[in-house]
Order: sequence, then structure tokens, then C-alpha cells
Amino acid sequence: MIGVTILGSTGSIGISTLDVISRHREKYELIALTANKGVNRLLQQCLQWRPKFAVMADTDSAEVLRQSLSAEAPEVEVLAGVDGLQQVASLAETDYVMAAIVGAAGLIPTLAAAQAGKRVLLANKESLVMSGKLFMDAVHDHHAELLPIDSEHNAVFQCMPPDFQQGLESVGVTRILLTASGGPFRTTPLSELNDITPEQACAHPNWKMGRKISVDSATMMNKGLEVIEACWLFNTSPAHVQVVMHPQSVIHSLVEYADGSVLAQLGNPDMRTPIAHAMAWPKRIKSGVTRLDLFAVAQLDFEKPDLQRFPCLKLASEAMDVGGTATAILNAANEVAVEEFLQRRIRFTEIPKIVELTLSNVSSQQASSLDSVLAADKHARDYAINVVQELAA
Ligand code: NAD
Ligand code: MG
Repeated sequence: MIGVTILGSTGSIGISTLDVISRHREKYELIALTANKGVNRLLQQCLQWRPKFAVMADTDSAEVLRQSLSAEAPEVEVLAGVDGLQQVASLAETDYVMAAIVGAAGLIPTLAAAQAGKRVLLANKESLVMSGKLFMDAVHDHHAELLPIDSEHNAVFQCMPPDFQQGLESVGVTRILLTASGGPFRTTPLSELNDITPEQACAHPNWKMGRKISVDSATMMNKGLEVIEACWLFNTSPAHVQVVMHPQSVIHSLVEYADGSVLAQLGNPDMRTPIAHAMAWPKRIKSGVTRLDLFAVAQLDFEKPDLQRFPCLKLASEAMDVGGTATAILNAANEVAVEEFLQRRIRFTEIPKIVELTLSNVSSQQASSLDSVLAADKHARDYAINVVQELAA
């Protein structure tokens, strides 16, 4: 049996992972489930799945969960806080860690999984955006396996030659083509973007996801973060990553070769495909995803991204070119801005402004240690909050 820990089991990716595992109970054993504060959802999952450990990042919530489980499932050991998350990510009986916590909170436990030499199923793109070099070094030094869950990166991984780690040029790869649906506002008149509500921003046309990544998809910061993620995963630079607008989300991404070949991975937009791929790799297992009906799709469209409509895309590539802690600063400012937007304290169009102002006023340092990355994250959050307060004044 393969032991699996799911960091962020109550979220959109966590639930899809449990769905895939439910189809292969003879193959995978659940070691740990984790969540932030939502006691009820984690309690239900523990009663259904009976993992060895359950972790709540919030210590008060962990205590409530412990009491609730003591009568019905006393065999489930409840842990708390970031320490608990790190512990279940590195347990000896854990073989695979699904890293599906949202945002910067995912960094420390995901890094712990890499340092413990696990197979890391990486959904939490923010950890690579914040500390790409540290993370990739940890994977290499501790012989961890890194498999991308983000649908685009999983598609690229599937289209890459097996020895791509040697460098893209030496294996004949010339470009990565990352597809982007463009989210709900691809064709909305620019004058209407000011009044977008959180409900409109979270209504993605093709994917059902958590609220933070849904807003990121609407601003296209998600694709910006994904360009950075691709650069670290595939050891390349933004100049070799072309974003291609593709509203149907059927082609999940493509790899272009020196001989003119372009390989693509297609499928219905359902995260259970990349999850099942990464869990079974190099084999294939059933995921529950319905087969792609090309006759029903009928047409595939492509466009160039409009950087005036989606300034976040440009900000992300620029931060990657600056290097060091600039991408951690970008990520932190974006997390603050998205949360403020979801709380209805700023406008949708103020998200890129907050990110841009933070990036130009908080200077990038070398991202040589976890401490330097966390310090940049904190500094950028403080700065972004000040910008929010100035906007409100
Ligand atoms: P979500 O909001 O649905 O779930 C987030 C999970 O993280 C929940 O279990 C929550 O309890 C946990 N969590 C939140 N804050 C935490 C904290 N401070 N400490 C510990 N746990 C915390 O998010 P999601 O849509 O499942 O996305 C998860 C990650 O996967 C994100 O990084 C996202 O970018 C990435 N991703 C998601 C999708 C998708 O289709 N949903 C696709 C590609 C990549
Ligand atoms: Mg994606």
C-alpha cells in the first residue's frame, strides 16, 4: 500500500484527491488529512476515511476536533499547528504528499515533504513562486519526486521528454506554451471591471475551484504565477514560456520542439485527471473523468493575451526576471489584495495596483534561506496593507 497525506484535504483539490483514492482503495492508504479551521468538514472526512492522523492548523479548532473524535474515532490522532502539518508531511509511513493548501501557508509543510524525500504532488504553486530555488534544491538534495498537479504543468510534464531535467535546449525543447482560459472577464468591457463583485469573479466558466485561485484566474495573476511555476519546474525563463489564450480549456498546455513538432495534452477540465496521473505515474489509473468528446467540443480557439486587460500577467513575468525575493513579494501582495477584494474592501481593478505598488517599493533581496523568503513575505504584506488603507482614505 502507498501511504498518502493530503495537506488541505477539505479544499477543492483535496476533495478531488479523495475521490480518486476512493476508486483505488486497494492501492492507497490514507495516513493524514489536514485543514485550517473548518472542523465540521474535517470531522466528516475523518469519520469516513479513518486516517491515522488529522491536523488542524488552527490550534483551537484542533482541540474541538480532538473532543469530537474521542468518542466516535479515538484511533485518529489529532495534531495542531504548522508543526503538526510538517510532522504528517514527513512521517515514515507517508509515501506521497498531496500539497493542496492554498497560499503561502502551504510553503513550510510542502517544503518539509520535499526535505523528507517524499513524492510531492504539487498543487500549491505559491510555494514554488515564493521560494523556487530553495524548493527545487530541497527536491534534488533529498531525492524527492516532484509531480505537478496544476493542470497546465501536469500537461507540460506529460509532453516533455523523460530527461528534461538536463536542460530544455539539450533535449530539443524550444518553448512551453501555457494555455489560459482567460477566466470570466476575457471579453467583459474594460469599463465594467471596476464594479466586479467577488461572486462574479469566483464564477469561473470551465473550472470549479477555491475562492483565492478563482479570483487569481479572473485577474490572470494565476497564469502569471504559473509562468513562474513553469520556470522552476522545467528550469527555464519567462522568455521561453508563451501564454496562449484558449477559452475552451481542452488543451491543458503544449511543448514545442526544435524540429517543429508541438505536443499537447488534452482532456475535459477536471482536476482528477492530473491528480490520478501524478498519483499513478509512470502508470495510468482510472480517475472518474468522463472521456473527451471532440465532436461535442467541435472547435478550439486561440488568442494572444491582452496585457492591458490583464496587467498581473506582466507583473509576474517581470518579478521572475528580477529574481530573488521579488516573486515572494508579488505573491504576498497578491494574497493581501485578493483577500481584501473578497472581503469587499477594495475594487477588483485595485488588485493589480496594490501588487504593482508593493513590487516597486519593497526591494528584492537574495532568496537564499527560508528566513529571507518569510521576511520578504511579511514586509510585502505590511506594505500592501498600507496601500489598501491609503486607497480607503
Ligand atoms: P481551497 O480554498 O478549496 O482549499 C484550501 C485548503 O487549504 C483547505 O483544505 C483549507 O482548510 C486549507 N488551508 C487554508 N488555509 C490554511 C492554512 N493557513 N493552514 C493550513 N491549511 C490551510 O483551495 P484549492 O482550490 O483546493 O487550491 C489549493 C491549491 O491548489 C492552491 O495553491 C491552488 O492554487 C492550487 N490549484 C488548485 C486548482 C483547483 O482546481 N482548485 C487547480 C490548480 C492549482
Ligand atoms: Mg492551472
